[in-house]
Amino acid sequence: MYRNAKNVGYYMIGDGALDQLHELMVPQRDAMPDAPVIYFIDHFFKHTDLVQRLPILEWDMRIFVDTTNEPTCESVDKYASEAKAFLNGEKACALIALGGGSTMDTCKCVGNLLTNPGDAADYQGWDLVKNPAPYKVAIPTLSGTGSETSRTGIMTNKKKGIKLGMNSDYSMFDQVLLDPRLPITAPRDQYFYTGTDCFMHCFEYLDGQYRNKITDAFAEKALELSKEVFLSDDMMSDHNREKLMIASFKGGMAAGFVGVVHPFSAGLSIVLGMHHGLANCYALSVLGDIYPEPYKIFNEMLDKQGITLKKGICANLTPEQYDQLYEASIVHEKPLINKLGEKYREILTKENVIERFKQM
Ligand code: ZN
Repeated sequence: MYRNAKNVGYYMIGDGALDQLHELMVPQRDAMPDAPVIYFIDHFFKHTDLVQRLPILEWDMRIFVDTTNEPTCESVDKYASEAKAFLNGEKACALIALGGGSTMDTCKCVGNLLTNPGDAADYQGWDLVKNPAPYKVAIPTLSGTGSETSRTGIMTNKKKGIKLGMNSDYSMFDQVLLDPRLPITAPRDQYFYTGTDCFMHCFEYLDGQYRNKITDAFAEKALELSKEVFLSDDMMSDHNREKLMIASFKGGMAAGFVGVVHPFSAGLSIVLGMHHGLANCYALSVLGDIYPEPYKIFNEMLDKQGITLKKGICANLTPEQYDQLYEASIVHEKPLINKLGEKYREILTKENVIERFKQM
């Protein structure tokens, strides 16, 4: 069976492109003149002039997304009920996300809940969303997750102990606006951890068995670009911020078809609350036998950018926590089969998995 793949509707890239948001929104505003736009803005920007530059009208809503922790089913439900209360039965003109992966994912998931009944947890999985979401715009301020082009919005489900997305064509953005000037204020380490998520998605995808020839081409290019950025002298130069935006945009199309890094990363996020990008770095640091070449390249990237991963993060956990780490990793059947085949549990035995966490 071939998969029918969707891409984002429109995209724009350029230094200072944010100033064109107003113009981009004209058709949407004209079509629904009294309807509010709901802005999802990373709380990191709450007191910055960036917010002043947004074309916010007096009847629009601003939601400052708390990105201290990554989105959970509870946080998405909370923002969805705030948005519904604000809309009071009316339709939204558009949803606009300004921020990194957590902010964009929150916007995607809330969007689906505005037009579909029930709670966030009801739609964790593949193609469970029935009705199209309102028109959505992504303005990434950090590159790497590919959330701006991917068809998923990831949420942690604390009750079930899993991290799983709303994988749906309706999760995708209708418009992406890429302004390479925006990530300039990002902390260096965060820029690295989030940025290398693109590298991880692409090599995991290209090393797996679930493939699509067009996605291959996107992933190969994104992998090449991300290597260039992180093996260069200054990953945050003007040129490299733009290059990473392009890599992330293309890599997002390959996101979702991952391998062994992402399940281990999910374990760390679930049990230790670690953010996704950093958790990926730790995961790959103990998977050198499974991914020898990416492991080698990644260590060069760390060296080149002067980033160090503090050792011993899982050294003194309780036996219950090691069990949880194992469970929260091994549960991700699809990606593990993608790399290791149906018999992945023979390689990743409980002892083997726990031993790897202890080495981090
Ligand atoms: Zn990822």
